[in-house]
Amino acid sequence: MRVSARPRLEELACPLCRGSLERAKGKHGLVWLCRDCHAGAVTLPVLRRVAPRAFVNDAWQTALRRSRRSSLVCPACAEPFVEVTVGRGDPRIKACVRCFWVWLNPQALSTVLGARRPLALR
Ligand SMILES: [Zn+2]
Ligand SMILES: [Zn+2]
Repeated sequence: MRVSARPRLEELACPLCRGSLERAKGKHGLVWLCRDCHAGAVTLPVLRRVAPRAFVNDAWQTALRRSRRSSLVCPACAEPFVEVTVGRGDPRIKACVRCFWVWLNPQALSTVLGARRPLALR
């Protein structure tokens, strides 16, 4: 029997506060939200649906260069996130290029989700 190293999605912990991440089904796909600190993660395909294309492309290109490693690790694969800064004055976001996760602090989450129609998070 193979034992998967990946934790079950229901058991992911927030990398910021270690609270448990809750899977929320938004209109555009799955979103992981921390109930305690209100940060959260979206996957790249979800981000593409809610954020402007240039924003997403910039963010992902920066992430792929892996120039700045974050001290936070991806809850899904335990690799360090890559820190991403997009444009001028945009909140810093973090990405896992392995899982296609984009981790957003509460401010960035609302900025990104507010770029178009916000996700239904409940
Ligand atoms: Zn948290
Ligand atoms: Zn990951």
